[in-house]
Amino acid sequence: MADRKALFTQIPKVDDILNEDRIKILLTKVPRTLVLDAVRANIEDIRRQIVQLPDGEIEKFSIDDEELIRRILYDVTAKNRMSLTKAINATGVVLHTNLGRALLSDAIKEEVWNVASNYSTLEIDIKTGKRGSRYIHVEEVVTKLTGAESALVVNNNAAAVMLVLGTIAKNKEVIVSRGQLVEIGGSFRVPEVMEQSGAKLKEVGTTNKTHDFDYERAIGEETAALLKVHTSNYKILGFTEEVNLKDLVQLGKKYNIPVIEDIGSGTLIDFSKYGFVKEPTVQESIEAGADIVTFSGDKLLGGPQAGIIVGKKKYIDLMKKNPMTRAFRVDKMTLAALEATLRLYLDEQEAIKKIPTLHMLTMQKEEIEKKAEGLYRLLTEKISPSFTVEKQKGFSQVGGGSMPLAELPTVLIQIKSCTFSVNQLEKMLREYKIPIIARIQEEQLILDVRTIKENEFDIIAEAFREFTDF
Ligand SMILES: *Cc1c(COP(=O)(O)O)cnc(C)c1O
Repeated sequence: MADRKALFTQIPKVDDILNEDRIKILLTKVPRTLVLDAVRANIEDIRRQIVQLPDGEIEKFSIDDEELIRRILYDVTAKNRMSLTKAINATGVVLHTNLGRALLSDAIKEEVWNVASNYSTLEIDIKTGKRGSRYIHVEEVVTKLTGAESALVVNNNAAAVMLVLGTIAKNKEVIVSRGQLVEIGGSFRVPEVMEQSGAKLKEVGTTNKTHDFDYERAIGEETAALLKVHTSNYKILGFTEEVNLKDLVQLGKKYNIPVIEDIGSGTLIDFSKYGFVKEPTVQESIEAGADIVTFSGDKLLGGPQAGIIVGKKKYIDLMKKNPMTRAFRVDKMTLAALEATLRLYLDEQEAIKKIPTLHMLTMQKEEIEKKAEGLYRLLTEKISPSFTVEKQKGFSQVGGGSMPLAELPTVLIQIKSCTFSVNQLEKMLREYKIPIIARIQEEQLILDVRTIKENEFDIIAEAFREFTDF
């Protein structure tokens, strides 16, 4: 027993550790509290080891001071990193919700930081000096691009739908096709959002077919709106039918009931021009006569997280007055990023070039092949021969619940290791100091170059080099 006690006395003192040369340097660079936490946790760890030591092993046990310092340095470095930080998306899923959906364009950096780090014209009318509205900044460009009379921006599309229904249809009925009662991303479920908003769901038709007479028969005293939801993330194929927006608008006009469309992703460009299946554009919905259209800012639009509501002024004005708008309101950084992103759309070719989401989706075969060749070369040259690197053809996905059936041809880099299993490798990449999120496909570790930036290639190569040094 006496020996165990002797071990306790050998544990280095906090002050001595803080006076160690490397720790002293560390203290000039990182907050003292992080260093202290790491020192205490590691000392506690040694104490626990000694307590749990079987009697027979006390003799052999010794405290490795060097190892202790190394652990502290490692822990502090890890803790000193931001929790929310850049990651590398090697999955090929362009709008990856868990990885932050759309990337903002480099072209709008200055606009966003300018507004975020200075006082701004957020809510002041420069002409009169009186209080202005934060919504007018995007309203002008949104209405120009979509042809809508008016616009309002909230936190996300879920909030947009909630606000629209809560304003127009509180305690009243909203008619929706059974084929459109979808769940999007787990937390957005049409029936539940409707219930939360205070609107009463009146479902019509069947899962696969809904006709205009289904809507018409359901219209009554209590009907406040007809709602069409774009079933972004799934498709019913085969014997199906839904009422198109134009016909729904006709019906709405006949009974003087507003027609609301949640188009989900909300694109401003016609993707069919770029070889995709047709996705409805916001302009087309406005053109077809929808009274209100809602969509996301960070899906196919390629902007910041936001929910954009466009449509007839009389309805948008009602929403602006709804106290819920205050709860859903967007901050100045979002507004700056959204306005700047939307301004890029004033020239579609510029938008395609400069908005990363659009660029990644419309990337030409040659560009992908060139990128893949670049990463392939770098990896074959730079990393240990214990890894084998191969190129193969494959597909990327749009993601974010948009265009679920679209398969985008791409080139994949497949990496095999003699030392690590596929799952180990995936985990090591994920836990790398700059997390690299790879894809596992048919038991292979895959990197899809479509979503990897060229300036990230070196980071990937460096990661594999470090894995070899273990
Ligand atoms: C994605 C989506 C939503 C939710 O939008 P968020 O911006 O993620 O809140 C709502 N409706 C549809 C049809 C969608 O595709």
